[in-house]
Amino acid sequence: MKAWEVVAVAHNGELVCPACYTELEQAVVDGMEHGEVSCIFASDELKPDEVCSRCGEPLMNNITVIKARLEYLRGEIIAERISYGELAELQDLAKYIDPDDTLLLEWAGVPEFSNSKVPDGAI
Ligand SMILES: [Zn+2]
Repeated sequence: MKAWEVVAVAHNGELVCPACYTELEQAVVDGMEHGEVSCIFASDELKPDEVCSRCGEPLMNNITVIKARLEYLRGEIIAERISYGELAELQDLAKYIDPDDTLLLEWAGVPEFSNSKVPDGAI
């Protein structure tokens, strides 16, 4: 289990974002501890409007969650099983993709060249 794959935990009926983990919850995420904490992984179906029970922030506002989802989507692309819904999600997350990450940028439909280079005859 890699820590980046965990995007939230469920604990005592609460959904907890990475910013709100207690020490115990962090230890479970890191695989150091086993408690009554369930890890929620990037590969799990996440509703976009799911919010943290503690801070009230949507999970998809958390950069750890976003990065983990991007890595999950990369895996789906490489495995050639990305769905239309996931592609739409990738496009929504395009602004978080590393500028050097050509694979994800290409799949997100981000033009490789900036608009400052207008081809001859385009105007
Ligand atoms: Zn939170």
